[in-house]
Amino acid sequence: MYDERCIFCRIIKGEIPSVKVYEDDEMCVFKDVEPKAAVHLLAVPKTHFKLLEEAGESGAEIIARMLKKIPIIAAGNGCKNGYRLVINQGDDAGQTVFHLHIHILGGEKLSDF
Ligand code: 5GP
Ligand code: ZN
Repeated sequence: MYDERCIFCRIIKGEIPSVKVYEDDEMCVFKDVEPKAAVHLLAVPKTHFKLLEEAGESGAEIIARMLKKIPIIAAGNGCKNGYRLVINQGDDAGQTVFHLHIHILGGEKLSDF
């Protein structure tokens, strides 16, 4: 599903430029435009949904496969010594882009949170 109002759908389609570090038929990984760590990537399913509870069965399977690929992608992009995954869900978490995404943060010793 493509939502023309969604920044990440438009990045996936190539309508908005991004620095992509990985792509396959169901996911895309690109650099965050405002990095909060030395390495800050966003792993995004190609199908548009906002929240985990909206993923459905097929979305959940995609997320499971994303989680399996992320360690390899992270290691190949400067996170050999560890990294942090974050999924902001909804208003209280400060989600600003309403297309589910997994933040991959690393490349340095991260502060506690
Ligand atoms: P959220 O706060 O929704 O979890 O994270 C959204 C993230 O998307 C933020 O870290 C923000 O910097 C990033 N972002 C917003 N717009 C763009 C964009 O146009 N390109 C890229 N590469 N990242 C973006
Ligand atoms: Zn989208």
